[in-house]
Amino acid sequence: MRAVERAEGTLVGIAVGDATGRPLEFKKNIDEEDHVSGPTSGGSPFGPTGSVTDDTQQTICVSKSLQDRSCFDPEDTVARLIDWYRSNPRDIGFLTRDVLQKIDAGKEWRLASYETYRQTPSGQEAGNGSLMRCAPISIAFSSDMESRRSVSRTCSALTHFDPRCQWSCVALNEIISEILTTGSVSLDEVVSRLPHRAPNELIEALESLPLSNPGSADRSGYVISTLRISLHYGLTATNFEKGLLDAVNRGGDADTIGAISGAILGARFGLDSFPNEWIECVQHTESLRQISRSILTHRFPKFTNENNKYNLNDV
Ligand SMILES: [Mg+2]
Repeated sequence: MRAVERAEGTLVGIAVGDATGRPLEFKKNIDEEDHVSGPTSGGSPFGPTGSVTDDTQQTICVSKSLQDRSCFDPEDTVARLIDWYRSNPRDIGFLTRDVLQKIDAGKEWRLASYETYRQTPSGQEAGNGSLMRCAPISIAFSSDMESRRSVSRTCSALTHFDPRCQWSCVALNEIISEILTTGSVSLDEVVSRLPHRAPNELIEALESLPLSNPGSADRSGYVISTLRISLHYGLTATNFEKGLLDAVNRGGDADTIGAISGAILGARFGLDSFPNEWIECVQHTESLRQISRSILTHRFPKFTNENNKYNLNDV
């Protein structure tokens, strides 16, 4: 399979996964009769059939910035997130909202993000709000590991400064880019390439895969839990549809688990594996397909945290 089909599958997979999981968001103890059978399953109080949420909307901000600026430009990415925040989205994480509110009031993004991280009560400071938007980076920087890591961390730190959030984005993008370029991935190799400063909890989560009992795994919005459960379904499924439905039908943070599983499954099986009616009924799939092709083929300039004004260690 060509890399372009995998890249298209990655970004369109986010929207399809988001729309499929959306009706089950926040639900617990779901009966079988309430299971969804795809994004065509129906609407919910949170939106009509095929509509997407913050996972896809933020992914569009990041990917369109990469496309339009022909580089990773943190200021431009933040400006697009602020425009989205001003549209008063129905679905927005509280930490994302708090940081964007401060930036919108005039604060520099690094200070806004760092302050919010320091002031947020323990246990609530490491949500999945930056993980849900990071996958376009794996496409744009698929053959440049150093820049991919720096961009993943910086793009997380625009709103989610916590090292667990930054390094979860790095890990997800390592995995997707490996699939894009080789068709498969070894988690052992991904773990062995992560530096020692990556959080132990993240390493342990990656080493625990595949899960022996995914049905009892934490499905909250905690970044490492979301990454772990999404990787489990994303990497073990034998086809796109079944993997996605298994991932979302136990509820919890189902739209985000769907979006991230959808990105991984889309990279593995490519856009051709998606049912046509799923692609047709979900918002933004055509524009995401076009953006994925454009950012895959563009040669992006290198980006390093160490040699520019966005050094995360400065704050
Ligand atoms: Mg969402």
